Amino acid sequence: MSTVLVIGAGGVSSVCVHKMAQIKRDGNGGIFTDIHLASRTKSKCDAIAASVKERTGQDVATYEIDAEEVPAMVNLIRKVQPSLVVNLALPYQDLPIMDACLEAGVHYLDTANYEPKDEAKFEYHWQWAYHDRFKEAGIMALLGSGFDPGVTSVFTMWLKKHKLKTIRQLDILDCNGGDHGQAFATNFNPEINIREITANARHWENGEFVETPALSTSVEFDFEAVGPKNMYMMYHEELESLSKFIPELERARFWMTFGDEYIKHLTVLQNVGMTGIEPIKYQGKDIIPLQFLAAVLPKPETLGETTTGNTNIGVIATGEALDGSGEKTFYINNICSHEAAFEETGNQGVSYTTGVPAMIGSAMMLGGKWSGDGVFNMEQFDPDPFMDMLNEHGLPWQVKELDGPVGF
Ligand code: NDP
Repeated sequence: MSTVLVIGAGGVSSVCVHKMAQIKRDGNGGIFTDIHLASRTKSKCDAIAASVKERTGQDVATYEIDAEEVPAMVNLIRKVQPSLVVNLALPYQDLPIMDACLEAGVHYLDTANYEPKDEAKFEYHWQWAYHDRFKEAGIMALLGSGFDPGVTSVFTMWLKKHKLKTIRQLDILDCNGGDHGQAFATNFNPEINIREITANARHWENGEFVETPALSTSVEFDFEAVGPKNMYMMYHEELESLSKFIPELERARFWMTFGDEYIKHLTVLQNVGMTGIEPIKYQGKDIIPLQFLAAVLPKPETLGETTTGNTNIGVIATGEALDGSGEKTFYINNICSHEAAFEETGNQGVSYTTGVPAMIGSAMMLGGKWSGDGVFNMEQFDPDPFMDMLNEHGLPWQVKELDGPVGF
């Protein structure tokens, strides 16, 4: 028996809750026996609960909560008495939800690291600083259990366990080959997405992070099930945890594909100041341009119906082979269909590729396969049971050997 409390009711939450309900329906090991969902707007929780009921026959209890109000969060946790709180709200809520978990003595999981509202700086140190307090309280926090971060780290650790003794070079390739038919829209929360993309790029090289201007390095890559796409080097949070847990890494980079139309719109929006996060005065009120922009852009959860095509996200790693056969390069990836994701859960592929790993991370914790006291990253656990569940629950992966290290 395990009760779970999910916070946030966007696309990622919707997929995760549908997946938890499928597991409950199939009677898998007694996990997710009671599913509770709370968010700022209760009607969004109710809409998810109705869809889950229709698709799986399972009940989801819903609540309204402002997750930044720690006492209210503690009250809700005490009322629901979950074994685990799954934070699928926004990165800004990570710390208040962790505070509430500490006070109520409950395990915690999220998919994105904390970011202060007034600084586009996503780094793990704020959450790593909770380690001792979680350890003393005898509870566990699992950070970044989405696709990237999340599966990308699990893929890397699987290669390190089964194929490579050391990893010298690592490239994470995130391709969204989906077409939503809109001139400009983001596939997850626009505010978080645009803050991430307009930040300076950073990659790991010879023991330190090297910073370059945003979107200044790009290369074309031919993605299976998508075709050739321009991908841009950018900073992504798993580079911080991977470089910590794989100390021999000489170079680690993160790449994401963007179409020319997307870049054109983003450049214009940046040039006119619409992506700024400093408040400006508008009709006597303080507004943040990026938040206003997010309010006028299409809502990511509305894109599912029209999105076609595939995502293809994976990791290319080069290092010394485990079997002593010299240096080897492996490419491990998942291809996910937007249409199939929508058919199954009513959400597009980017929400699907994040919501499924959030469910799997929760299953790892509730089923006792991943456990510990303190704050942990995905790299610190055995990748095998997680990889098995990816295959079983909609995100099958493949691995192949390449002729040599990447040439870009
Ligand atoms: P959405 O913006 O669609 O959903 C966020 C939800 O959080 C909304 O329901 C929102 O409520 C709710 N929320 C916001 N503030 C609060 C608050 N103070 N209290 C309670 N609820 C709140 O985002 P997504 O579903 O696209 O993304 C969810 C998370 O997943 C984000 O943190 C995102 O960064 C992360 N992510 C991770 C990825 C990965 O691969 N690791 C990839 C994609 C996303 P309301 O509806 O009222 O606005």
